[in-house]
Amino acid sequence: MKGNRTDTDVLVVGGGLAGITAALGLADTGVKITLVEKEAALGGRARSWTDKKTGDPIHIGPHIFMNKYPNMFKMMELLGTRDRVVWQEPGHFITMVDGRTEINMVADTRIPAPFHFTGSLLRDPTLPKSHIPSMVPVTLYALQLSPEDILKLDNINASAFLRAFGVTEYLIQRFWAFACQAIMNVPLDLCSAGALLRFYTGLIGVAHLDIGFPDGGLSDLYVPQAEARMKKAGIRILKRTEIKRFTGNVKGVTGAELGDGSTISARYTISALTPMALRQAAPREWAGAYKMFFELVHFHASPYYATYIWFDRKLTKRKFWARSFNPNDLNCDFYDMSNINSGMEDRNSIIMTNCIYCDRAMHMSDEEIVQETVHELSEYIPEAARAKVVHSVVNHIPMAIHCPYPGMEQRRPPTVSPVGNLFLAGDWIQTGLPSCMENACRAGWLAAEAVRAAIGQPEKLSVDLDERELEGFARLVNRLGRRLPVDPVPGLLATRRNTREKFLA
Ligand SMILES: Cc1cc2nc3c(=O)[nH]c(=O)nc-3n(C[C@H](O)[C@H](O)[C@H](O)COP(=O)(O)OP(=O)(O)OC[C@H]3O[C@@H](n4cnc5c(N)ncnc54)[C@H](O)[C@@H]3O)c2cc1C
Repeated sequence: MKGNRTDTDVLVVGGGLAGITAALGLADTGVKITLVEKEAALGGRARSWTDKKTGDPIHIGPHIFMNKYPNMFKMMELLGTRDRVVWQEPGHFITMVDGRTEINMVADTRIPAPFHFTGSLLRDPTLPKSHIPSMVPVTLYALQLSPEDILKLDNINASAFLRAFGVTEYLIQRFWAFACQAIMNVPLDLCSAGALLRFYTGLIGVAHLDIGFPDGGLSDLYVPQAEARMKKAGIRILKRTEIKRFTGNVKGVTGAELGDGSTISARYTISALTPMALRQAAPREWAGAYKMFFELVHFHASPYYATYIWFDRKLTKRKFWARSFNPNDLNCDFYDMSNINSGMEDRNSIIMTNCIYCDRAMHMSDEEIVQETVHELSEYIPEAARAKVVHSVVNHIPMAIHCPYPGMEQRRPPTVSPVGNLFLAGDWIQTGLPSCMENACRAGWLAAEAVRAAIGQPEKLSVDLDERELEGFARLVNRLGRRLPVDPVPGLLATRRNTREKFLA
């Protein structure tokens, strides 16, 4: 209510993965903590709920975990849910489908990175082998980039960059355009070369990269457990509570004003909001005083549509597959929940899909989206066209992550903001990772570390990634490429040298 004021030591705004992790990281400090979330439930963009008709859990949209999510697993470990991830068979990265043809990308762990996918590429019946060598220069180039180089490449458009490196048009469409849409969530023509190459290095530089899925609803893996732990620690959780604006001045934040006119005053504030929500909540003078706040206007959301279809029969035993890239497709990745969630093996297929950065869907009704999804599914599994749709749900999701357009990597701010006592968390904070659940958790731990340092209770909470954790030959190229004054592979890297100079100058 207007005029009412409550006091707290630490105010955490936003109850997504980042805000929850930050609050958990402070739970044992003994200071007064208040977490504020505008929705009725915690979880933000990684939440799930129960479908009213079937009683099944549905996520906001299907999510995947990677085995290289140490900061997220640290949070789940704390909550006792670390084992609630269903993994694909080790080494099985993804099954791409082209019509009825399946192309299994399987990492051969006996072969050192970055060659562990070579066998899969050679077995791909749809890939003319003469194109493979065109990937070598860009691969060697990517492996020896430093984090600083990645930021320099951020101003360059990914598609122009790949063409300058001589990657064939076929591979640009077949591999890069798919990876860009599926992982970076924007079309290749709109992606930052730096952001894309960082993901690529992570993919090819590590031989043991596994993919997993939540066993049950995504929220079930952390929301009830985190709430119980926070309540036990005396953390006040205010749901359905929207902050209107942060209070204070250019020197420092003093808390926030809520939608009902009341205020919460705090010694320290963690904003675990999206960049767009932070822009709305930041006092105007912050944008005038600090570039970081002024530039929030450049963050744009990548929208998704997630479709859930319950069929009257079992259609597949697969957990997960993706369509070969075609810009005219509606859906990118497909999952069968009946083959993922424990105890659902005998159920009929429940197909989940992600439609990513697809403005085509904006002009379609939910019925049309379901129809088109069944059509796309039936190109791989013809039985889907004969099966009956028992129930369907289409989630319209305004934002999955912010778009990594050229220039955006440099705009991702660090944990400590220029405004006194204001710390930043969220999947868009610069921690050296792409925007994802792992980055949200890592940013949450880092914000908690910063507040702990400020209150005189320093503690290391975040898990550092050994410099992009490259393995095998990939690690060697990285070290040699960055330390030696000569090319580690003379001749082959000549293109890289010239292009490096051209691009990094
Ligand atoms: C469909 C979909 C698929 C995805 N797939 C994957 C995947 O496969 N793998 C992966 O790692 N990541 C994936 N992601 C990304 C991942 O979900 C996000 O990176 C992560 O959840 C972001 O967490 P966050 O805490 O930073 O932000 P959020 O979850 O957005 O948290 C911000 C919170 O702030 C609240 N809030 C906003 N304004 C206010 C206000 N004024 N006052 C109070 N509260 C406010 C919001 O309600 C929200 O709860 C996907 C996301 C979506 C949506």
